[in-house]
Amino acid sequence: MFWEKEIETMPVPELRAMQVGRLREMVDRAARTPYYGELFGRLGLSAGRIKSLDDLKRIPFTTKEDLRGHFPYGFLATPSEDVVRMHSSSGTTGNPTVVYHTRRDLDMWANLVARCMVMTGVHKGDVFQNMMGYGLFTGGIGLHYGAEKVGVMVIPAGAGNSKRQIWLMRNFGTTVVHIIPSYALKLATVFEAEDVDPKKDVKLRIALIGAEPHSEAIRRRIEEIYALDAFNSYGLSEMNGPGVAFECPEKKGMHVWEDSYILEVIDPETLEPVPDGEEGELVFTTLNREAMPIFRYRTRDLAFVYPEPCACGRTHRRIARIKGRTDDMLIIKGVNVFPVQVERTLMAFPEVGNNYVIVLEKVGPMDGMIVRIEVRNEILQGGIRHLDDLRRRIVRALSDEILFTPKVELVEPGSLPTTEGKAVRVIDRRAE
Ligand code: ADP
Ligand code: ZN
Repeated sequence: MFWEKEIETMPVPELRAMQVGRLREMVDRAARTPYYGELFGRLGLSAGRIKSLDDLKRIPFTTKEDLRGHFPYGFLATPSEDVVRMHSSSGTTGNPTVVYHTRRDLDMWANLVARCMVMTGVHKGDVFQNMMGYGLFTGGIGLHYGAEKVGVMVIPAGAGNSKRQIWLMRNFGTTVVHIIPSYALKLATVFEAEDVDPKKDVKLRIALIGAEPHSEAIRRRIEEIYALDAFNSYGLSEMNGPGVAFECPEKKGMHVWEDSYILEVIDPETLEPVPDGEEGELVFTTLNREAMPIFRYRTRDLAFVYPEPCACGRTHRRIARIKGRTDDMLIIKGVNVFPVQVERTLMAFPEVGNNYVIVLEKVGPMDGMIVRIEVRNEILQGGIRHLDDLRRRIVRALSDEILFTPKVELVEPGSLPTTEGKAVRVIDRRAE
């Protein structure tokens, strides 16, 4: 199903021409901000110099540090009385990054989210339970307004309070949920404890999952537990939040809405573009924002672009599942490991339950890795010998994947810590 078929299936040359036109408008707007005004002045750059998409390269990358360094208004392109909303990141390490929106910005954002939701099959008549945090975090509010635009009934449940979530689902016939994948798995254990069947006692048909890296195996688990279709949702507050890229029914990569963003994929070391199909850092430019145009924002998120067109008919390019952020990469015993590699390996074992954590610590002068894994209830009944065999098989599979041998501990279901927000998969104690 299409929300705006003409834009979603626009022939690529037209789409590129649209991008150039909008890029020119963005340069014009951004010249009014203190940050880009000064920068463009120095570079002698104006909208008139933007003749093709190649001219984007005249503009340097923007980093999170640039945004932080010009807190709070250095990137604002409109008079402050035209701003109707702000969002911000958590800001635990210095000034938070703040993003401002005009009324039109919010409307455009909601429209993109509606486009994503309709693409996955959400329609009027659906009951949508939004289980992401509301507030400064963009996940909750972002989907909320998009869903209202589609015209579904929205239950603004927010994050956490699992029993109430299940109660809401049962009493209001929830058909669509928006949920963080790690929380979807945790919620499954509450269903079990409450003796409610997630396949039969609730009517879920679609889950929109995102906000944190997760493997294909996690998606399949969520689909299997709740008997629904799960779609990957990608976004970041600097680019509005959710609605930047989303999976279509083909479930192979996420379409980036190129009428609203220019996507580049670069080598994070050399900063040179990488060819389609090769992994690199995602870089985005806003094409449709009044209050806060941002050029070539370095996300630190790693993914590749699918080179071939999508069978769904949409012409906007697709990015693969996010492998993690460049700063998520662990260097252990000289080997580079992404947490999601560990996850992929673990989730291939049906005996493995719904939560795990990676603990890093010093063993003498060496780095050590402990992987704590919740097993399924049934497995605990199998006896020690059985458990030890499972543990050994997991160690072997992990060693094959990450090229050194970690320590593996199997623990009871529900015994590892969970959060209501993004999962904390790695605890690094090496500096202690
Ligand atoms: P913060 O940067 O403080 O985490 P955001 O809420 O803006 O705040 O988070 C955006 C980030 O979340 C992205 O840059 C990416 O790292 C991660 N993210 C969002 N959606 C996904 C997804 N579907 N898959 C993997 N990672 C995601
Ligand atoms: Zn598609």
